[in-house]
Amino acid sequence: MRPSIFNILPMLHFKRLESFLISLCILISIFIAGIFVYLDYNTSQLMVKRVREQAVAYLDLINHTKEWNFDYGGVYVEKTHGVTSNIYLGKLGINPDISCADKRVLTIRNHAIMTSEISHRSEHAEGVMFRMISLRPINPANTPDALERKAIAQFSKAKPEFQEITADPDQPTFRYVTPLYADSSCLGCHRGLSIHEGDILGAVSISIPIRDLLNETRQIRLIRLLFAIALIGILIAVTYFMTLSLANDLNDAQTRLKTMALTDELTGLSNRRQVMARLEEEFQRAIRLGESICIISLDIDHFKNINDTYGHQFGDLVLQKLAKCMQNCVRPYDIVGRVGGEEFLIIAPASPPEEALLLAERIIATIRQETISEGTSQVHITASAGVSVIKHDDADITDLLRRADRAMYQAKAEGRNRVAGP
Ligand code: GH3
Ligand code: MG
Ligand code: MG
Repeated sequence: MRPSIFNILPMLHFKRLESFLISLCILISIFIAGIFVYLDYNTSQLMVKRVREQAVAYLDLINHTKEWNFDYGGVYVEKTHGVTSNIYLGKLGINPDISCADKRVLTIRNHAIMTSEISHRSEHAEGVMFRMISLRPINPANTPDALERKAIAQFSKAKPEFQEITADPDQPTFRYVTPLYADSSCLGCHRGLSIHEGDILGAVSISIPIRDLLNETRQIRLIRLLFAIALIGILIAVTYFMTLSLANDLNDAQTRLKTMALTDELTGLSNRRQVMARLEEEFQRAIRLGESICIISLDIDHFKNINDTYGHQFGDLVLQKLAKCMQNCVRPYDIVGRVGGEEFLIIAPASPPEEALLLAERIIATIRQETISEGTSQVHITASAGVSVIKHDDADITDLLRRADRAMYQAKAEGRNRVAGP
């Protein structure tokens, strides 16, 4: 089975690591989503700023055109095909037309009609519409619409402009409206309407279609969104696999520590702690099930001489060879451990005494026949073993161990290289 963080974590009892991982993933997601929202908001703001600057540029142009026209008191154009006279001037008692000596007829274009005509051209070419609206229009076409009326109602000295994006899905538009204050250029035509210089006479209204701009913004948003999702995915995957690898390393380290704590480093056998724990387990099991259990206490004969003669390193080699020897002699469910310097303990669960005696004899005989050599050094060694069997009145493993040691010392006393039985 492939290791997954969720089957390693319970093993490690690192529940906190699991919640740490989940919290980290949530934090990464929130962080990236935050950046995304911030960038998206900034882009929208930038878009509005850009289109407002465009509206202001149009506004300046309208004002310059209007002033240019007013400074000349209006300009005359030839009344050719399609050119009509400004009927509203007629209503104000101004004759808009003049005839020239060469029979041509000229008609006046004042600032109001001039901006209106330029607006038509601009609307036709770029879709941008601008117009001067009046609260008391002479030309009904200059009557404010609902949004313009709302804008005029909101104007104040502190906020002399109004902007709004109309949400019409067919043609979203940026609407920009600024007040038009009455000045000498206005009073000429709007006289008699109790309007004074400085009063708000109407407004300049600019409408810029922004469908393309919004589409562009939406595309940028989509790309950023995909990028943010991919980034979240990559960061979560990297975090997951790094944590998995960390958890694996910790798991390995824990397993190694556990093994080290229970294993004798030199021989690879169970150490004293592990052997005693297993003996306790097997002892309790034997008592519970009414089974037999035997142990063999084994001690190398005159081992000090080996160390003294061949050196401590060679002594270590002897211990390693002997450990292998013993392991090869026992059954798979027997337990062999090193309980002291050159002392070993073999647990033979569910074994009657005669079987344990045979096992001990086999081990002693195998050791006796073993030749241990390294370089020029070559030795034959012997060992003594004592066997003890569980008794119904044993209080704990101490009694069993004491009898095994006593038997082993008996084997030593009887001349070594032998087994003493229970
Ligand atoms: P006996 O037959 O009475 O058991 O004699 P012995 O020499 O085996 O017993 P003794 O208790 O006098 O000496 C045991 C020696 O085992 C002493 C010690 O230097 C050696 N020894 C203990 N642990 C190690 C070890 O890890 N490596 C090596 N090389 N020697 C060890
Ligand atoms: Mg000893
Ligand atoms: Mg010894």
